[in-house]
Amino acid sequence: MIMDTTIFEVLQTYDYEQLVFCQEKELGLQAIIAIHDTTLGPAAGGVRMLPYASEHEAIVDVLRLARGMTYKGAVAGVNLGGAKCVVRADPKREKSEALFRALGRYIQRLSGLYIAGEDVGTNAHDMELIGLETPHVFSLPAEEEVSDFTAFGVMQGIRACVQSVYGSAELQGRTVAVQGVGAVGSRVLRHLLEDGAVVTVTDTEQNKLDRLVAAYPGLLTSAPEEIHARPVDIYCPCALGAVLNERTLPELRCKIVCGAANNQLADEHCGDRLAQTGILYAPDYLVNAGGMIVYADSRHPDGFVRQRAWAHVSRIYGTLERVFARALEEAIPTYRAADQLAEQRIASVRQAKTLAIAP
Ligand code: NAD
Repeated sequence: MIMDTTIFEVLQTYDYEQLVFCQEKELGLQAIIAIHDTTLGPAAGGVRMLPYASEHEAIVDVLRLARGMTYKGAVAGVNLGGAKCVVRADPKREKSEALFRALGRYIQRLSGLYIAGEDVGTNAHDMELIGLETPHVFSLPAEEEVSDFTAFGVMQGIRACVQSVYGSAELQGRTVAVQGVGAVGSRVLRHLLEDGAVVTVTDTEQNKLDRLVAAYPGLLTSAPEEIHARPVDIYCPCALGAVLNERTLPELRCKIVCGAANNQLADEHCGDRLAQTGILYAPDYLVNAGGMIVYADSRHPDGFVRQRAWAHVSRIYGTLERVFARALEEAIPTYRAADQLAEQRIASVRQAKTLAIAP
């Protein structure tokens, strides 16, 4: 992506607003904040901490994720734009109060244009540390877990997919392969088992699998490199992105792909190819919007209201149905139908804003 082009050319391709590099030598802080679009509101996005092998890898990730957040907010019907922050560090060894507070000061300098939240490699405690330096960080009441809402949203997506493919949203006896049993995947797994699905799971951390197998007799496991190729009704990616790529696509043996992971399609070409195979793809940013919806709710003038947030997340089912209908009507892949829905909303708000400031 970036190798043969300049950063500005890359930013222009998808119209990014800002790319902010943050460093503090003494702490070894290297973070990048990408703000994609603030048409709908301040740009929301998680702080992802990973030991990226290179600067290039970190930039590619933050740009892709930030753009996904814009589309997620637009389709979810919240008044938030899209951004993301990546921190080049190992979350197991390199976290410190000083590091998160330094990042918090950078976020504060953006004066509310970017609002931080949890993501892979960070947690609520890390957000509290960022919050010591800036109010521009999402927080929920202590008893709430953002992953509960994300997992609930993924379940809405799975049910809408099953309804579309099999004519009933019933999950009893449906077979599901869950890739990654972290915060979201483990919760999705629990819902699936409660609903009578037959589930195969995998994770790169064997101890997580051991714990789950002990807790749920009958749970099946698979090697991480084989999970996408399981002969199941639903493949549910809940680990990292780009799992639908040139190598994995010919190996898929499912009817549905629906999961929490961001950026599941390695690129748009893979989305087109997936559509040609007849496998129903639930656009990732649509079904994993539960977290963003609940964060948006926490900014409500009356404060966070649990029931309102659940109700909003449950609308993911209907939005997905609209996307499937549009894809069918226009003979386009589902990822494209979701993009169109998002782009229409952003364009109409942008136009209204332009009209409002016209002389
Ligand atoms: P997590 O870090 O808690 O869980 C990810 C799990 O995947 C871990 O258990 C990890 O060991 C495992 N994993 C990593 N690589 C793997 C591989 N190659 N094969 C199998 N397992 C692997 O993260 P999470 O919060 O559960 O998020 C999962 C995905 O959902 C991420 O892509 C995240 O961006 C996305 N997401 C999460 C939320 C949320 O509320 N947490 C919201 C929206 C999107």
